[in-house]
Amino acid sequence: MPNDMTPPKPSAVKRATCMLEVLAARRVTPNMIRVTLTGPEMAAIPASTAGGHCKIMLPAEGQDAAALARQMAEGPKPTTRTYTIRHARPEVCEIDIDFVAHGDNGPASAWAARAKPGDFIGFAGPGAPKLTDHEADYYLIAADMSALPVAAAGLEQLPRDAQGIAIFEVLSEADRQPIDAPAGIEQHWLIHDNAEVESTLATDMIEGLDLPEGRIKTLVAGETGVIRRLRMHLRGDRALPRGDVYASGYWRIGLAEDAHRKVKNIEAADDEAKLAAAS
Ligand SMILES: Cc1cc2nc3c(=O)[nH]c(=O)nc-3n(C[C@H](O)[C@H](O)[C@H](O)COP(=O)(O)OP(=O)(O)OC[C@H]3O[C@@H](n4cnc5c(N)ncnc54)[C@H](O)[C@@H]3O)c2cc1C
Repeated sequence: MPNDMTPPKPSAVKRATCMLEVLAARRVTPNMIRVTLTGPEMAAIPASTAGGHCKIMLPAEGQDAAALARQMAEGPKPTTRTYTIRHARPEVCEIDIDFVAHGDNGPASAWAARAKPGDFIGFAGPGAPKLTDHEADYYLIAADMSALPVAAAGLEQLPRDAQGIAIFEVLSEADRQPIDAPAGIEQHWLIHDNAEVESTLATDMIEGLDLPEGRIKTLVAGETGVIRRLRMHLRGDRALPRGDVYASGYWRIGLAEDAHRKVKNIEAADDEAKLAAAS
């Protein structure tokens, strides 16, 4: 039965392109910054869109909100990054976005580390939440820190009697977060303390799992090298149907987002060709 957190159909939510103001920014854990943003358009973003992605547009050095809004409308495209709506509170026109604090090497990470009340960013979204099919027998969730927001929101929206496993990979023990997942979802927290080295922890664990019979739905996201291996395992070795596997690369070691997106699309097409040839 749908509950009040059942995500709406994407077409039912009006997408907004607007400016948002920072209300607050704080470290939820040592390597995760939660930025609370507000704007009147957030009244139309239902709480159940948590887990949907959005685009943020960052101001250039010294640029004011009016100039960024003009640039968003007229171009050239401002620096744009993809994030997840962690919480939406339409009743007070607020959303939270959780940013991995990976230093000043990326403009979004650098912006979040300095964000303070009164700062602003451009916003476009939301996209659809990723775990909207609640009819599976078992859920397999795997997320590094960039995908903790989508995984946590998805788990919070699952029916309370859902069964499954959630494997989180974080940078330190202190980066574990309480997640209100159904009791039947077994939670595992793995520590991989060097984001510049591709991790094998989650993949090794998932490859060794004894998964139950029945329909398995997955939400697997994080560093693209790791996710490619997991996608091939889940779709190839485990033969899970394409429609039941959400496996998405959220960032790539050594690549900024625009370069990553191009490579990711080529690699995903390559992986699909390999899967088709093997089936
Ligand atoms: C659908 C979707 C939803 C996403 N949701 C979130 C979210 O809610 N929270 C979140 O933190 N990220 C999220 N991401 C990932 C985020 O878009 C990327 O991490 C993005 O590259 C960050 O932009 P940046 O400007 O900080 O770094 P970029 O300029 O893109 O990259 C600069 C350098 O930083 C490195 N880098 C990028 N991301 C990370 C990272 N996570 N850890 C370590 N090094 C990194 C890159 O490899 C590169 O060397 C999401 C991605 C997608 C596709």
